Amino acid sequence: MAYKLPELAYAYDALEPHIDARTMEIHHSKHHQGYINKTNAALEGQDALLAMSLEDVLKDLDAIPESIRTAVTNNGGGVANHSLYWRTMGPNGGGEPTGVLAGAIDAAFGGFAGFQEKFSNAALTQFGSGWAWLIVDGSGGLQVVSTSNQATPLSDGATPLLTLDVWEHAYYLKYQNRRPDHVKAWWNVVNWAEVARNYEAAMG
Ligand code: MN
Repeated sequence: MAYKLPELAYAYDALEPHIDARTMEIHHSKHHQGYINKTNAALEGQDALLAMSLEDVLKDLDAIPESIRTAVTNNGGGVANHSLYWRTMGPNGGGEPTGVLAGAIDAAFGGFAGFQEKFSNAALTQFGSGWAWLIVDGSGGLQVVSTSNQATPLSDGATPLLTLDVWEHAYYLKYQNRRPDHVKAWWNVVNWAEVARNYEAAMG
């Protein structure tokens, strides 16, 4: 048993002009594939862990043998984080959430604009490589957080709903050092229907 690169639900050029096709192709077929390969190598022979979902493996880092823990968390985090990232973007994205999720965002952040500002700020102030997140925390509340490198909020007892990759490889070809321009453009491709499904699943 081994992990496989998930297919995108849209073409590499589907997020143009906000995220360019070349960046999408390299990001998915090289970076994400690389994390898949290294996760499979790290987990070779670990039948108990391979029988679990990768998300469940990342929820309990203490259960991973110490000799492979760093390799599994770095690379497995890279697999899980990118899988959520692809799913929560799409063509015809952007706008604002509706329904139960919209109400929860209003209650937690004082409105969508307040949430957007907080999330953008998390993405812009993450020093070096990492991710910005909207999560459901262990108490069922919405929070905006950021993580370094390939760390995932799953390992902190949270459920990620939406994430933005702020590693330079996610935007450098089109935006070079202009992370703020990338973050601003990314809001146009957020797949709020998928984020709402994640929220409903997290809240049972
Ligand atoms: Mn990435």
